[in-house]
Amino acid sequence: MNNQNIDPHTLLLIYCRSGFEDECSEEIHHYLHKLGYQCERIDSSSDAYIIMKVEHVDFKTLESKMSFDEFVFPRQILYIMKKWDHFSGEDRVSPFMDELQICDPSVSWSAYSDIFFESPDTNEGKKMQKFFKKFSIPFQNRLKKIGFKKVYSKNDRPRIHVFFDGYQKAMLATASPLNSSPYPMGIRRLKFPADAPSRSTLKLEEAFHSFLSKSDQEDFLSEGRTAVDLGAAPGGWSYQFVQRGISVTAIDNGNMDDKLLSSHLLTHLKQDAFKYETSSQVDWLVCDMVEKPSRIAQLIGQWFHSNDCRLAIVNFKLPMKHRWKELLTCLDILRSSTDQQLMIRAKHLYHDREEVSVFIKRMPN
Ligand code: SAM
Repeated sequence: MNNQNIDPHTLLLIYCRSGFEDECSEEIHHYLHKLGYQCERIDSSSDAYIIMKVEHVDFKTLESKMSFDEFVFPRQILYIMKKWDHFSGEDRVSPFMDELQICDPSVSWSAYSDIFFESPDTNEGKKMQKFFKKFSIPFQNRLKKIGFKKVYSKNDRPRIHVFFDGYQKAMLATASPLNSSPYPMGIRRLKFPADAPSRSTLKLEEAFHSFLSKSDQEDFLSEGRTAVDLGAAPGGWSYQFVQRGISVTAIDNGNMDDKLLSSHLLTHLKQDAFKYETSSQVDWLVCDMVEKPSRIAQLIGQWFHSNDCRLAIVNFKLPMKHRWKELLTCLDILRSSTDQQLMIRAKHLYHDREEVSVFIKRMPN
C-alpha cells in the first residue's frame, strides 16, 4: 500500500502471454512516458506477468489516466495493494483479510463487484487451480464475516484479485471493472466450433468480441454484409462470415475447405492477394497472411486509401526480435495511408500466438 503523505508510487501487476514480458514492459514504458511518468520493471524474470513500479503517483490518479483498451500486450492490468515475496504459514487467508481491512480507503472494497483467484498462464500456474478450489471458499466466507459484500451488476465497484505465483509469492490487487479485462486472468475463452475448417477461426471470433461493441456486432456482422478474406485457406476466418450470412470473396492459392466451398456465400479466387482488386467497396477486409508485417500494413493501407473497405481486421505475424517496434511501424504505415480519419486498435489476443490482431475502422467525416 502506498503511503500517500510521502512520495507515492504505484505497483502494477500485468498479465501477458508467456514470452511477451519484454514487449509488455516496453509498451508500459512507452505509454507512461507519454503521460509523463517514470517507471521501472521490478519483477525478477517472471513468466507470463510483469510488475512495474510507477514513481510519484498514487494508484487512483494513475488509474484515471490509463485506459486498458488502449494496450496491446497486457491481458490484464491490476493495481497491487500488497505483495508478499515469502508467503508462509498454514493460514493463508488471514494475511489477506488483515490487509483488506487496512488498505487504502479510496479502494472501498467493502462492497466489491467480484473476486478472481489467479495465477500466471503457464503450466506451473495451472497447477494452482487445485489450491484455489480449496482456498476460495474459506476466503469468501471470511470476507463475509468481516462485512465485505459482493454487489451484483455494479460495475463501479472494484474487483478483488488474489494472485499466487507458486505458494510463496502472493499479491492482493484491484481493478475497476470499467477499466480492465472482465475475464479471470484476462483470458476470453471461446468454444471451438466443431465444423470450422481451422483453429484460426477463434482468432477472428475473439477479435470481433474484443473490437466491436454489441451494437456494432449486430450492425457490421449482420446478414447481407460483404467481406474479402486475404490468405483465406483453409477457411477458418471465412467460416466466421458465412455463419453469419455474410458473403465472402476468399483469396488464396491454397485449397479451401470443401464444405465451405459448397456455400453460395463463398467465392474462392486462386490468386495473389497483393494483386487482387475488388470491383466495389466491401464492408470487411480481413487478412491472415504469413508475410512481412510492414508489407501487409502497406497492402491494407492501400485498401483504405482507395476506399475499398469500411472495416478491417488484420493479423500481423511478429518477428522474433523488436516486436513492439515493428508493431509501431505497422501502425504508423496504416495511419499515414490515407487522409481520412481511421480508428485503429491493436490487441495481442488470447488466441494469437506470435502475432497481433489489429482492427481498423474508417470514421465518418
Ligand atoms: N485464416 C486462415 C484460416 O482461418 O483458415 C488461415 C490462413 S494461413 C495462416 C495463411 C494463408 O495465407 C495460407 O493459406 C497461404 O496460402 C496464404 N497466403 C500467403 N501469401 C499469400 C498471397 N500472397 N496471396 C494469397 N494468399 C497467400
